Amino acid sequence: MAITVRAVERPARTFATQLYLVEVWRGLAVTFRHLFVNLFRHAMKAFGIKGYLPGSVTIQYPEDPAVLGKRARMRHRLLKRDDSTPRCTACLLCETICPAKCIRITAEDAPDPKIEKRAKTFDIDLGLCVFCGYCVEACPVDAIHMDAKDVELSAYARKDMIWDMPELLGDKVKVPSRPV
Ligand code: SF4
Ligand code: SF4
Repeated sequence: MAITVRAVERPARTFATQLYLVEVWRGLAVTFRHLFVNLFRHAMKAFGIKGYLPGSVTIQYPEDPAVLGKRARMRHRLLKRDDSTPRCTACLLCETICPAKCIRITAEDAPDPKIEKRAKTFDIDLGLCVFCGYCVEACPVDAIHMDAKDVELSAYARKDMIWDMPELLGDKVKVPSRPV
């Protein structure tokens, strides 16, 4: 595939830009434009006048919960069948497609003769994951989703970024290390 490279001219450093005053005023103009446009939109809403876009609202995160879009990719979770066994058949498609190489699965024979294999261990290192969603797309049995409504994933230790199978299935609560 041919790659097109577009050269972008670096703006000239004129005397006016090096003075910074003009650039500072241009930045302030953008800030005040947003301020007055938002004020106007909120005032229109307060007076019940329709036909204007809603004004922006600042979410007081982390005091208020994060607002997540319907299609936001959150922490992974593994799904179960009706009989409460994991859906995963250890086909390794998600591990193979993962661009960050952060999924590690070991397989074993499944007791059910209709299912060839099942996962013995299933780890995802969320410290490496780029949240691309390829693993979810690749899964042929709909065994993995990224809808755990969990976006606060920071940890004090790297090992705490690795979620194992019981944690991904929701059978075990993740207990993070204490800060040192
Ligand atoms: S979301 Fe992407 S990077 Fe993360 S585990 Fe899935 S395939 Fe890998
Ligand atoms: S693609 Fe789905 S079935 Fe295959 S190993 Fe991953 S989670 Fe399991």
